[in-house]
Amino acid sequence: MDAEVFRSWITTAAGVIEEQRDHLTQLDAAIGDADHGPNLARGFSAVLSAHDGANPATPGAVLLLTGSTLISKVGGASGPLYGMAFRSAGKAVGDTADVDLAGLAVALKAALAGVQQLGAARAGDKTMVDALAPATEAFSSAIAEGASPADALTALANAAQAGAVATISMQALKGRASYLGPRSVGHEDPGAASTALILGALRDTALAASQ
Ligand code: ADP
Ligand code: MG
Repeated sequence: MDAEVFRSWITTAAGVIEEQRDHLTQLDAAIGDADHGPNLARGFSAVLSAHDGANPATPGAVLLLTGSTLISKVGGASGPLYGMAFRSAGKAVGDTADVDLAGLAVALKAALAGVQQLGAARAGDKTMVDALAPATEAFSSAIAEGASPADALTALANAAQAGAVATISMQALKGRASYLGPRSVGHEDPGAASTALILGALRDTALAASQ
């Protein structure tokens, strides 16, 4: 995947987030403050403008600019966390011109480590980690087992989606939703839902690019 594919991923992700903006807001209304949809939509729209202005030349530069723009434009918990995820992934890929499957696995692991370093959430705390961690694991296992790129990317997106749905039965232990205690049970975590959308966009874009 070259810089063009990474940009195309972020553009697709921005489109899906805009499309699902009200859904993400409804999820956040149930256990938070109803701002996750507009927060992310505003952030990703700023990212697209930043990409247009700067024309980042490598995958790493695309990821770093995405992360720093999200940090500066998205309020709330998710801006710094997503910012950290993209910046950590960007640092992990370095200045390589083309990221292969193994490189993508390293970048995803770095993103997860960055989110956990900043937010201290563990698996099961009902956060974006509950989508990102199983996705990262599923992707690495698929590659280790010699899966095709299409199968590995599908495993990634499916695990993220299943992880997001699995947050419904969890009680939130981190973030705003944790203030609700047991009343947070029964609702999907908005950040896990948006993570599944972003990783679904990654699968769609990478698959389209490999055809
Ligand atoms: P805020 O909660 O400040 O209103 P958002 O609504 O944009 O911010 O984002 C909420 C999402 O952020 C949650 O659904 C959760 O997935 C994620 N989140 C919150 N705190 C943490 C944390 N400590 N670690 C990981 N993710 C977190
Ligand atoms: Mg919120």
